[in-house]
Amino acid sequence: MKMKKLTALLLASVMALSMAACGSTPTSNDNSSQDSSSAESSSDTAEGSEASDSSDAADSSQASDSSDAADGSQASDSSDAADGSDASGEAEGFTTAVEGKLTMATNAAFPPYEYVEGGQVVGIDAEIADAIAGKLGLELQIDDMEFDSITEAVKGGKADLGLAGMTVTPDRQEEVDFTVSYATGVQVIIVNEDSDITSADDLFAEGASHVIGVQRNTTGDIYTTDDIEKKELGTIDRYSKGADAVQALKTGKVDCVVIDNEPAKAFVAEVEGLKILDTEYITEDYAAAMSKDNTALYEAVNTALQELIADGTVQGIIDKYITAE
Ligand code: GLN
Repeated sequence: MKMKKLTALLLASVMALSMAACGSTPTSNDNSSQDSSSAESSSDTAEGSEASDSSDAADSSQASDSSDAADGSQASDSSDAADGSDASGEAEGFTTAVEGKLTMATNAAFPPYEYVEGGQVVGIDAEIADAIAGKLGLELQIDDMEFDSITEAVKGGKADLGLAGMTVTPDRQEEVDFTVSYATGVQVIIVNEDSDITSADDLFAEGASHVIGVQRNTTGDIYTTDDIEKKELGTIDRYSKGADAVQALKTGKVDCVVIDNEPAKAFVAEVEGLKILDTEYITEDYAAAMSKDNTALYEAVNTALQELIADGTVQGIIDKYITAE
């Protein structure tokens, strides 16, 4: 497995080009809360591609509104910030996309890291971001968008950080700066209970020809494209949401799904007749993505995150959502 990780990482960097090509892809985040502020339009993301997600983007748009929502839906408990002199961050020397707020870009279809519940984006990442915001004296605002759009939102300064169970990869590191890692992810393989695929190696075996479902532009997509599709050991079916890939598995359109372990568990719990293979595809590190151009904010967020890791807050949040096996 270690070899696998290394290989995949190397391949991931080779993939930089094709990632760049994909960078201009899709999305339909018309829920965008970029209403005000720096709006050099996210519409550049709108050309083409299937827009199947606009619905869930829309229903979780609380993010954008939380600002005016006096109830402060998921506004950070500014109580943590009590000691922090200044609420806008100016005294700390950093600026944010929206004054007084910490804007988090995410794709809320990735339980338990981020998902929509009762019209709110909740989950591990949302709580971590809330804790960071609290430390910085800011109010958290969450912008739900396609996974694909997160890096651009961060790069363009529309969002302060991308927190989305996002794996640190060499090609992404060319686009954004990652904070310290706050969690480990594992790419796993979901199959139908009676599948003839019994281990990860079956996917790479000579003569293999499986159809593999993935979430577009995630590491599951990147790795399987390199390891399987490019070697003509199968084809990749790309979906905008992990849950859609899992449905495709259920209906027999794909033979397996390669996806992060925690959402995998959540999806398998929802859909009968599926299981996760014991063999893991690769392990990876999750971190927050930030602009390379806002170093003061990067320092502030990274330091806050490090403190939250050191004092056990992050682990406490993770433990709330993920029970040890
Ligand atoms: N960890 C995976 C990646 O970074 C998937 C993240 C996600 O779908 N939110 O590509």
